[in-house]
Amino acid sequence: MATGKAAVFYAVGKPFELRDVPIPEVEPDAILVKVSLANICGSDLHFWRGDAPLKISDDGWIYGHEMMGTVAKLGAKVKTDSLGRALREGDRIAYSYFVACGRCPSCLDNRPAACPNKIGRPLGPSTFPHFHGAFAEYYYLRPGGHVFKVPDELTDEMVSPVNCALSQVLFGLHQAGLRFGGSIVIQGAGGLGVQAAAVAKDMGAATIIVVDQVPERLALAKQFGADHTINLKEIPERKDRVALVRTLTGGFGADIACDFVGFPQVIPEGIEMLGPGGTYLEIGTISRGAKIELEPAQLVWGAKRIVGVIMYDPWVIPRALDFLVRNRTRFAFDRLISTKYPLEKINDAFAASEWYGRDAGAITRAALVP
Ligand SMILES: [Zn+2]
Ligand SMILES: [Zn+2]
Repeated sequence: MATGKAAVFYAVGKPFELRDVPIPEVEPDAILVKVSLANICGSDLHFWRGDAPLKISDDGWIYGHEMMGTVAKLGAKVKTDSLGRALREGDRIAYSYFVACGRCPSCLDNRPAACPNKIGRPLGPSTFPHFHGAFAEYYYLRPGGHVFKVPDELTDEMVSPVNCALSQVLFGLHQAGLRFGGSIVIQGAGGLGVQAAAVAKDMGAATIIVVDQVPERLALAKQFGADHTINLKEIPERKDRVALVRTLTGGFGADIACDFVGFPQVIPEGIEMLGPGGTYLEIGTISRGAKIELEPAQLVWGAKRIVGVIMYDPWVIPRALDFLVRNRTRFAFDRLISTKYPLEKINDAFAASEWYGRDAGAITRAALVP
C-alpha cells in the first residue's frame, strides 16, 4: 500500500511523531492534494500549547489547516474547480479545510461559516481518509470541499495563508461592515493583523491604526498599509491610547476595532476605541473559558455591536486570490512567511513559533514544506 508522511500529535507537551500513513482511495467527489506549504497558525499553537484543550484519542491527531498544494489525484467526478474552471492533476490549488454540513439551520439560512458541524473531532492516521490535516505530505479534500485554481502570478508563499488568515480577515471585515472611507483599529500585528491592514486598505478604509508592542511587527504593519501604529510599550496607559485613537479619527473613535491578539484582555480597550455606532470584530480569542469584564452600558449608550467570526463563506477564497493578484506588488506579502522548515523539523518549527518567540519579533509565520 502506498503511504505518505504525516506529523501526528498525541498530547500537549509531547513532540509530534512522523508516521507513514496510507494514501486513501479517492472518492468520486473528493480530491487528494499534495501539500506544498503548511503554515503554523496561531490557533495551531493554542492546541499545541494546551490552552484550547481537546480530547485526542490514542490514535493521535493529524492537524494543521493553513496550506496550499497541488492536485495529486482528482475524484472520478471532479472535472472543474468551484468556479467551473477545468482542473487537472498537477494544478496549484487553494481550498477550504472545512465543509459545512448542509443540514442545519445555519446552512439552510445560507450562513455556512456559522455551521456548527463544519469542524469534525480530531482524527488520527487510522481513520479514513487518513490525511486529515496540513502537517503531512497529503491532504484529503472531502466531497463538498471548495477548491480554486491559483493564478500563475502568485507564489506558493503568497497563497498558503489564503485559506485561513487572509480569508478570515476578509470575511471578518465584510461581516463587521467596513466601508469605503471608514476607520479601523487593528489590535495585534501578527499574521492576521497585518493582512487585515492590507485588506482594509484595499476595501477603501481611510484610517488604519495598528496596535502592538513589538516594533518589528508594527514596522511590518506599515508595509501592509497601516497609516498609524501604536506601540503599547511607548504608550503604556490605556486611556492615553484610547485618546490617541479619538484624535486620529477626528474626535469620534473608530468605525471598527478588531481583536487579532488572542488574549481577551485587549477586548474592552478595543470596544472603548470605537466611536458611536461602531462594531467590534472578535476573531483572535479562540480559547474556551477565557473571560473578560465588560460594561454592557458601553454598548447600549454607544450603540455598538460585537461580531464574532469563525471561518468564512466559500466565496471568500477566490476574492482573496484576486486581492493578492491586484496587490501583489503593493504590500510586502513576501515577508509574511519568515522561516521554512522541512516536515521532519515540525517540533523545532512549533518551538520557534511559540508566543514568546513571536513577541521577540522573530517570526510572523513559520511554514512547513512536506
Ligand atoms: Zn488558522
Ligand atoms: Zn450546517
